[in-house]
This record gives sequence, C-alpha cells and structure tokens, in this order.
Amino acid sequence: MFSELKKYAKDHHIPIIYDDGLLFLKNLIEINNVKDVLEIGTAIGYSALQMASFGCQVDTFERNETLADIAKDNVKKFGYESQIQVILHDALVPYENLKIYDLIFIDAAKAQYQKFFEIYQVFLKPNGMIVCDNLSFHDLKKEDVNRHTKQLLGKIERFKQFLINHPDFQTQFDAVGDGMSVSKRRTT
Ligand code: SAM
Repeated sequence: MFSELKKYAKDHHIPIIYDDGLLFLKNLIEINNVKDVLEIGTAIGYSALQMASFGCQVDTFERNETLADIAKDNVKKFGYESQIQVILHDALVPYENLKIYDLIFIDAAKAQYQKFFEIYQVFLKPNGMIVCDNLSFHDLKKEDVNRHTKQLLGKIERFKQFLINHPDFQTQFDAVGDGMSVSKRRTT
C-alpha cells in the first residue's frame, strides 16, 4: 500500500519524505515514545500515514485543497481516520484548535520555516522536539541555480543560523533525508 502512494507521488511530481529520512523519524518516534505529532505539510498524506502506522496521533496541515482531499481519501483507504486529522489550512495563519505535541514535523514551504517554527513552538511539550526536513535542498549549490532558487538557498541558510543561535532550543543537524534537523529545548 505505501509503495502505491510512493508511486503516485513520483508520477505526479509530489515531493514526499525520503526513505532514510522516514527511518530516522521512525527511530526518533520510537526512542522518545512520541504519541502526538503536528505536521506542517501533508501533501498526499504519505508521512502522516507512516507516522500513524508507528502508533502516533497526527494532526497535519495542508493548504492545497486538492492535495488535502487526496490525503483525506488516503487516510480513509488506510483506515487511519481515528489517528490522523488532515486540516485544510495555511499554516502561516495561526490556528488555535490544537493540542500540545511531542513532535512537530515541519515539511512545507522552505522559505517559511522560521515562521512555522516561531508560530508552532508554543504547541510543543516541554521535552518535545521540532524536526525539519529539506534543509539540504537536494544539495544544490548557489552557483548552479537561478535567482529564485538562490534566494531560497539563502533563506534556508538563514533558518539554519536561526536554529543554531536560538536561545531556547538546541539543534542537531543530520545528513539524512534531504537534510534534517532536530531541535529540543535547552535544559540549562
Ligand atoms: N510531509 C509530506 C510527506 O512526506 O509525505 C510531504 C509534504 S510536501 C514536501 C510539502 C507540502 O506542504 C505541499 O503539499 C504544500 O502544499 C504544503 N504547504 C506548503 N506551505 C504550506 C502552508 N503554509 N500551509 C500548509 N501547507 C503548506
């Protein structure tokens, strides 16, 4: 079943989490006994369904109505209606009706990661973590890309610096998936 979703994503050029990134996320979920997840960026629901299959409850934001509908259909097909809530909503607009989460997974518009981080950190449990994907952006180099992509690379770089310098969170960067970060609240 998951292989069908992967094929659909590939055939329709919809980016989804890489296999090694998913394995990394699975380990984090298991080691930290993660139960409640907030995801920013559902697409067709692939990563949300995977996290539900690891035992998590997932609230996930998607701003694209067509994708949100596909994700909702997939949630039904997989029988995870009691574990996944697909929320059609632009995550840049604060959304109040949320729980407090063990893990927040940011996997949406790369240029906005800092805003997502700032808006949703208040919904994180004291010992929870915020995971971001796509921080390597396919290992693109500034000198090889157009102006728009160059600007995006600059934003990702600035977001990494924001994480490194954050007074309340300590971040570890991992060369898995498309470049992932794990941020936990500083204890000292
Ligand atoms: N997490 C998914 C997975 O691995 O299966 C992939 C998500 S895809 C990389 C990013 C998604 O984020 C796209 O479907 C896009 O429409 C959505 N997105 C981008 N900006 C958003 C926003 N501000 N609010 C909600 N969704 C957003």
